[in-house]
Amino acid sequence: MKLGISSCLLGDMCRYNGGHAKDDFIYDVLSHHFELVPYCPEAAVFGTPREAIRIIEEDGIQKVVTTKNRDDVTQVLQDICNLQAKKIAVDRLCGFILKSASPTCGLERVKVYDKHNTSGHKRGIGLFATQIRKRYPYLPLEEEGRLQDAWLRENFIMQVFAYAHIHDFLDTNPTIRDLVSFHTSYKYLIYAKSHVSYKNLGNIVANQEKKPLQTLLEEYKEEFLKAISLKGSIKKTYNVLLHLFGYFKKLVSKEEKEEILGSMEEFKSGILPLIVVIKIINLYAKKFDISYLEEQKFLNPYPKELALRSNLKAYK
Ligand code: SF4
Repeated sequence: MKLGISSCLLGDMCRYNGGHAKDDFIYDVLSHHFELVPYCPEAAVFGTPREAIRIIEEDGIQKVVTTKNRDDVTQVLQDICNLQAKKIAVDRLCGFILKSASPTCGLERVKVYDKHNTSGHKRGIGLFATQIRKRYPYLPLEEEGRLQDAWLRENFIMQVFAYAHIHDFLDTNPTIRDLVSFHTSYKYLIYAKSHVSYKNLGNIVANQEKKPLQTLLEEYKEEFLKAISLKGSIKKTYNVLLHLFGYFKKLVSKEEKEEILGSMEEFKSGILPLIVVIKIINLYAKKFDISYLEEQKFLNPYPKELALRSNLKAYK
């Protein structure tokens, strides 16, 4: 599984001043789970070190200029960003982590200066980030700074794995039966994101209108990618836990029932991390041999070693 990364986040000395912006989570943790593919549009076209660049806005039009000489480098940067964005499809990336605040890579809140190069606003987007968003609207994208937030981190990693999974699945030339089984395994993960998406995907799979398989798969892919790009919430996750509990609530004793429901309440109140409740559900799913539950991606959406659900702040 491949993730695109702004090169400087991997420790490459490709920043304008010859420095890097190595990120520990990417370098020390994600590198064990993904093939990290570096991209640096600026170094590819200007070399390193180089004069710093910034976005300026004049009469409503944005340009990229060098900070000292004020050379307009918009077109040359645009061209290399186009080229590198095209490469993402060739590399078959499942997501991309971009360097924040960069006039090239920044995904949001990039500083845009006025024509006097003095003040400005922070509503800009880097040229490369813009190209990626335009070409691949559903590719999971995040900035390294935002990934410090446990909730955004968990949502992003879950999205990346689901994004890779649906692409791999569609590559197998699935039958309608395969689609039903894929959908079944994602039922509760989607439910934890959006009840509307859950309903829409169910309708696509039910295929009341008897559409051809290819049309169904395309519609399913689009709706699925939209669904996994949504952020989950503690409330929706709690509802999913209650649904899952419903599969074995009649099989446990009164005391066990109280313990399980108590754990779910503690998760909802922010006292217990989700992983504890998931462990309990997995245990009972195995004990009562409920394969429907064991197959649910919601219970195991990514390698447990990432330990994202151990963090109390991963849900809000
Ligand atoms: S922010 Fe992007 S363009 Fe700038 S050094 Fe890092 S990878 Fe290169």
